[in-house]
Amino acid sequence: MNNNENNFKKIISHAKEYGFIFPSSEIYDGLSAVYDYGQYGVELKNNIKNYWWKSMVQFNENIVGIDSAIFMHPQVWKASGHVDAFNDPMIDNKDSKKRYRADVLVEDYMEKINTKIQKEVKKAAKRYGESFNEKEFLATNKRVVDYKTKITNISKRLYTSLENQNFADIKALIDELQIACPISGSRNWTEVRQFNLMFSTELGSINNNTNKVFLRPETAQGIFVNFLNVQKSGRMKLPFGIAQIGKAFRNEIVARQFIFRMREFEQMEMEFFVKPGEEFKWFNYWKHQRMKWHKCLGIPDSKYRFHDHEKLAHYANAATDIEFEFPFGFKELEGIHSRTDFDLNAHQKFSNKKIQFFDPETKQSYVPYVVETSIGLDRTFLAILSYAYTEETLDDGSERVVLKIPPFLSPIKAAVLPLVKKDGLPEKARKIMDKLKFDYLCQYDEKDAIGRRYRRQDAIGTPYCITIDHQTLKDNTVTIRERDSMKQERISIDSISDIISKKLKVNY
Ligand code: ATP
Repeated sequence: MNNNENNFKKIISHAKEYGFIFPSSEIYDGLSAVYDYGQYGVELKNNIKNYWWKSMVQFNENIVGIDSAIFMHPQVWKASGHVDAFNDPMIDNKDSKKRYRADVLVEDYMEKINTKIQKEVKKAAKRYGESFNEKEFLATNKRVVDYKTKITNISKRLYTSLENQNFADIKALIDELQIACPISGSRNWTEVRQFNLMFSTELGSINNNTNKVFLRPETAQGIFVNFLNVQKSGRMKLPFGIAQIGKAFRNEIVARQFIFRMREFEQMEMEFFVKPGEEFKWFNYWKHQRMKWHKCLGIPDSKYRFHDHEKLAHYANAATDIEFEFPFGFKELEGIHSRTDFDLNAHQKFSNKKIQFFDPETKQSYVPYVVETSIGLDRTFLAILSYAYTEETLDDGSERVVLKIPPFLSPIKAAVLPLVKKDGLPEKARKIMDKLKFDYLCQYDEKDAIGRRYRRQDAIGTPYCITIDHQTLKDNTVTIRERDSMKQERISIDSISDIISKKLKVNY
């Protein structure tokens, strides 16, 4: 097991031990790729949702939010293309009996080559020192150029085969590249087959195909089918956006990596409707706005990167992903797509209803274009959690695990701790707690030695601990301890709330 894998395992067990994430139905041995959020997990998740909702709906006068139902008319998914084309190519390894997404096996292979390129760059940077020119090196070094050509060729072939649904060729590619099962090392593969990712069930009590409904695989379609409702009732003018946070369901073939790929997950999506012809301007705008949103979390910039799509889906004319460096490498966290008028047009056709915008300036009606930003809430949670998880050895040789969650997202904002359980300190502490709890989610804790209580708060990422001691009774001051630096300051009780609220500000 390498360091990253080991670290990832520790993060998963920490998340469980400290009430962030539990396997679903654990007493029945869990349900594959389904998870429950615990008492601290739900707080962190809600805080992320609020941060997104604020930055979309509250800060933009031309964006409104909705909350559409999970069940939708089955024709919605016919129109959107999900019934016919929301498939993944799957492949089984005959020896390990493990199932994989064929395209992901090839993509992982390409990522390995990419890692080799990065290694070459690092080596060269060390060798040449200050005179190193990375751009030139990437363009001229023979080994790197060969690696890059190899990636380009594989990627061309993979995406052409995916588009043409040429599964035999994807299988041939896996064989030619000698890709082995990551678990067993075996190259004994089945053929590649198609697999639709939508879950279905029956509406009402009659079990026949006419009542078949799907659990939505994305929240976006709930926005498209409500385009006219929102536009008319809100008297919205282009450009304007509709945002939504909600559950989505996908019967993922391979659902590993904890909450990165789940079968039930949450998305935060925003569809921004624009005048045809203006989509690239808005695509660029949202691409950078979204990156800015991520960077406000205080996680180093080097953890994020754009991955512009060279091969576009049939409905898109521009697309990029924001990738994050998870413990298992750079992976998609958010997608930003310019989806043209594909969705509204399709719903127009299938519903036989006119879905257009009347432009008061040009006196013309047209189907707007749309730029979509779509981010996984659970993946954002994982990004924050995996970055925040820190093991530290302190000056006295002891160790602590601390979650360095951005304070404004922390589940508990302050812990109120009487130094001892006597001499009137708990009563004084309770008074402070009763005042503070109207401003923030706080926690009162009087059990165990103060050091252990600090550790417990570090482990759930509480940014501030307020300690009430004997001096408090004399002069109404307390100590406030900051989580990351562990520095303690003596402050007056009256100033606690102000000091905390200042530190919880986000620099948008
Ligand atoms: P991937 O290629 O990783 O399967 P995708 O391209 O299918 O993702 P989109 O359809 O663009 O994903 O969905 C938008 C966002 O929803 C993704 O960027 C991701 O953050 C999140 N998401 C998608 N599928 C899952 C899942 N199974 N579990 C958790 N989050 C998901």
